[in-house]
Order: sequence, then structure tokens, then C-alpha cells
Amino acid sequence: MALQPFSTAVVLSKLEQLSGGSQGMQCPSCQHTDSRVLESRSADIGRSVRRRRECLHCDFRFTTYERVETVPITVVKRNGHREAFNRSKLLHGLLRACEKTGLEPSRLETVVDELELELQGRSGREVASREIGELALQQLAGMSDVAYIRFASVYRQFQSVADFVATLDGLSQQPKAKALAALH
Ligand SMILES: [Zn+2]
Repeated sequence: MALQPFSTAVVLSKLEQLSGGSQGMQCPSCQHTDSRVLESRSADIGRSVRRRRECLHCDFRFTTYERVETVPITVVKRNGHREAFNRSKLLHGLLRACEKTGLEPSRLETVVDELELELQGRSGREVASREIGELALQQLAGMSDVAYIRFASVYRQFQSVADFVATLDGLSQQPKAKALAALH
């Protein structure tokens, strides 16, 4: 088997993505197939994930770019209508909710990236708009209380003060550390 000339591998498999990518990702130095991920970053405007890895056998460090196989995701809205998942629409909603909270837009892009990865990884291709909102909220919970409430008020279509109070109560019970960890 020829040695790989570059320390970068492009992987097109979605399964790699789902398994955390540790299996079958060959070390360019010793060809060992187990590595651990040191760092993950969104790249290419959310179309791929750049991962810094370390070989479990020889400690060689290398970078992989894992590209998600994009399959159209259908969003089922409350009124039963279906539309294609639109990441810029979601990002726009998040940006609005996070106005003046000091949150970096790039962090919100990461939220959308992670959410899209999760949706892409599912077997079903339909997802309720409500569920997308809840997934985004899970991520916001660890980032900004203000953004969380604003986003929840839109997604959950608050009708009354009681809805705000219920959401605030839920927020204080959120395991924030877990929500934060989900981002990394
Ligand atoms: Zn190695």
C-alpha cells in the first residue's frame, strides 16, 4: 500500500461522521486505523468538518476534512406543509435572537452546522420544524439566556407571559454544561 503523501484525508462517508470518525481513519505515518479527535471545526461554510487527530499508536498528528453527504431534508411545519430545510433561514433566526448579546456569529454558524450534521445523520429525511427549534435551543441554552428566551418565544410561539415563565423555569433546569459540551 502506498504511503499517503499528505497528512490530509478527505472522507466522503457520512458513517465516518456518525461514528466520530475514529475507525478506519488511517494514520499517514504508521497506517494505524485508530485515532482520537483533538479538535473539531466547521469548515467550508458548514459543508465539512475539519478535525485535528492524533494517532493512538504513534501519536502522529494529522488533519482530516470530513464532508457530509448532503441529502435533502424536509421540514414539516406546524400547519403540515413541507419545505426544504433552509440553513440560512435558521441562521438568520438565530442571529436575530442573538442581537446585542455579544455572541459571535461564527458560534451561531457552528450551532447550525452541528444541527445540520445531526439531521443529515438520521435515517429519516423529515423533521418537524418544532424539533429543529428545540435542537437549536439546546445549543443556545449554554450560550446566552437572553438569546435562548428570544429564540424560544419565536419557535414556541409564546402566547402569554406564562409561556415565558415556563421557559425560564425550564432554562434554569437545563444542564448547561451538557449543552456546552455538545458544541465541542
Ligand atoms: Zn500512527
